[in-house]
Amino acid sequence: MNLPVYMDYHATTPVDQRVVDAMLPFFTEKFGNPASRQHQYGWKAEETVESSRASIAKLLNALPREIIFTSGATESNNLVLKGIAEAWKQKGNHIITVQTEHKSILDSCNKLEKLGYQITYMPVDEYGKINVDHLREAITKKTILVSVMMANNEIGTIQSISDSGVLCREHEIFFHTDATQALGKIQIDIQKMSIDLLSFSGHKIYGPKGVGALYVRSTNPRIKLTAQSDGGGHERGMRSGTLNVPGIVGLAKAFEIAAQSMESESNRMKMLREKMFAAFTSQLDEVYLNGHPTDRLPNNLNVSFLHVEDNALMMSMKDIAVSTGSACSTADPEPSHVLKALKLPQERLHSAIRFGLGRFTTEEEVEYVIGRVVESVKKLRRLSPVYQSIHESIVS
Ligand code: PMP
Repeated sequence: MNLPVYMDYHATTPVDQRVVDAMLPFFTEKFGNPASRQHQYGWKAEETVESSRASIAKLLNALPREIIFTSGATESNNLVLKGIAEAWKQKGNHIITVQTEHKSILDSCNKLEKLGYQITYMPVDEYGKINVDHLREAITKKTILVSVMMANNEIGTIQSISDSGVLCREHEIFFHTDATQALGKIQIDIQKMSIDLLSFSGHKIYGPKGVGALYVRSTNPRIKLTAQSDGGGHERGMRSGTLNVPGIVGLAKAFEIAAQSMESESNRMKMLREKMFAAFTSQLDEVYLNGHPTDRLPNNLNVSFLHVEDNALMMSMKDIAVSTGSACSTADPEPSHVLKALKLPQERLHSAIRFGLGRFTTEEEVEYVIGRVVESVKKLRRLSPVYQSIHESIVS
């Protein structure tokens, strides 16, 4: 077993060896630029990019031309929000999103607000789910886009995406979902789920970092968006820049592997995750699950260990790589905006640990983590005057 045990698969994943093998030739002998139309190097690279595009499209039930390659989900999310806002400003200036979205959505919305757009940030319930009736009430004549993440990166809650998609279709509003954490873990079909735009990233699915994509519906309705990087007119004019050929090959291969193994992997993850939670609740008191008990990613376990400060717990288990919230905002000592949006008691916000399991997590690692967490929580609670006084009063 390698130490520290890696349990932060929501932050990133190691690249699967099969993905590395598929990518390698495209760094060296097959190095052509797909935009070079005059020779074989270019043609071969273009052929490869197009077959990767077709493979990704098929897995989403989309058309190849609807897949736009980007540098990752942050860029895809920026492109959706700013690109739709710019292209459709004659139609309206109102966008609806959710309080628990990733910062790449929230910060893009923030920038749009400064440019005069109106943004509604939908609240969520204690499990992190939006209410579709409230979404219906938030829609106005000026609404051009609704963006609801498919699965949350901190608490793993899965939203009712189809219901939101159908509602948006009825109102002729574009519907975007950030599927970065969901892709490869739960079934996604852009037709059945009425999705118009969908963001995802390579490095969350055992593919490389720095590559991702945006699905943009091309029929019923055809969606136009304004490019946010101008240049050679690549990607049907929506995203200029020389394509990251090895990255694109890796993204497609990673998605293929994830889709093939999704069912068995998902069951394995759930089993290991449940084992962890059952051990925590049977060996410790005052342990709370954050996020939805059933509508959640199979590999996510977000738990508050009351009377134990999250950072202190992490520091006392340096042999385990976990996270207190979103890795993207760890510079911020405030509790995460996601946990805050659940309106949980303060104590739960400051004692939450996110365990992210993955393809290479073993039963041995899970057992090790259980042992270390239980030991560390007990040790820290012995030092906690609050815990000790509550415990003593219960005993006496
Ligand atoms: N959205 C979600 C839900 C994420 O978890 C992440 C990664 N933390 C992103 C967007 C950003 O992805 P990338 O790292 O590819 O920019």
